[in-house]
Amino acid sequence: MKLLEGKNAIITGASRGIGRGIALVFAQHGANVAFTYSSSVQAAQDLEKELTALGIKAKGYKSNAASFEESQELVEKVKKDFSSIDILINNAGITKDNLLMRMTEEDFDKVVEINLKSVFNMTKAVQRTMLKQRKGSIINMSSVVGVKGNAGQSNYAASKAGMIGFSKSMALELGSRNIRTNVIAPGFIETEMTAKLDEKTVEGWRNAIPLKRGGSPEDIANACVFLGSDLSSYITGQVLNVDGGMLT
Ligand code: NAP
Repeated sequence: MKLLEGKNAIITGASRGIGRGIALVFAQHGANVAFTYSSSVQAAQDLEKELTALGIKAKGYKSNAASFEESQELVEKVKKDFSSIDILINNAGITKDNLLMRMTEEDFDKVVEINLKSVFNMTKAVQRTMLKQRKGSIINMSSVVGVKGNAGQSNYAASKAGMIGFSKSMALELGSRNIRTNVIAPGFIETEMTAKLDEKTVEGWRNAIPLKRGGSPEDIANACVFLGSDLSSYITGQVLNVDGGMLT
C-alpha cells in the first residue's frame, strides 16, 4: 500500500545516509521528493535519477541548511517546481566531536548552526505555505544523544536537544492549523559513515542494543513514512525513539 501518494516532501541532506534512505522509501510510497545536499553533486544527480525511475517527481537542490537566505530561496524554488509542500524533514546534520576541554568555539557554533538553526530556517521558510494549506507534517531528526547526552558530543547533544524544544513549541503554535511537528531520535544507524569504523567496536555497540543490531536508514525512513502520512494525523509534539530499544 502506498501511504504517501501525491504528497510533496522536502528532505534536507539526502545525498547520503539516512536522508537518502528516506528519499527512496518516500518515493516507493508515492511521494514526490525535493531534497537538498551540501556538496555531493554527483551523489545528488544519481539519487535524482534513481527516484525519478520510481515514477515520481524528484529534484535535488544544492542548499546550505544553515543559511537563512538559502533556505528561503530553496522553498521558493520548490514551491515553483512542486506547487505544494506537505512534508518537511529536517535531516541535514553534522558532528564535530571533542571533549569540552578541546572543543573550539567554531566547532560549537558550526554544529549548532547546521543542526539546530537549520530547523528554524526551514520551518520559517515553509510556515506560510503550510498555514495557507491548513495542513503539513514537519519531522525533525534528533538523536538518542539529544535525549540522553553523550561525553565528547556536547555541541551535538545540545543541538539535538534544542531541536526537541523547538519542535514541541511548533506543535503548540501550529497545531490549530493542522500542522504537526514531531521528532525522531535515531539510535545507532549503520551508514557508509559507520562502515568505516573498526568492526570490533561496532560489534560491541550492536551487542549493547536490546534488538542486537544497528538500525538501517530504512528503519528511520519507515518511521518518517508513518509521521508524514495521514496514519499519524492525531500525533504531534512527540519524540519517537527509533533505536532498537537503546534508551529502554
Ligand atoms: P551523513 O551520512 O553524514 O549525511 C549527512 C547529509 O547531510 C548529507 O546528505 C550532507 O550533504 C547533508 N549536509 C551536511 N551539511 C549540510 C548543510 N549545511 N546543508 C545541507 N545539507 C547538509 O549523516 P547521517 O548519518 O545520514 O545522519 C542524518 C541525520 O540523522 C543527521 O541529522 C544526524 O545527526 C542524525 N542521526 C544519525 C545517526 C546515525 O547513527 N547515523 C544517529 C542519530 C541521528 P553532502 O553529502 O553534500 O555533504
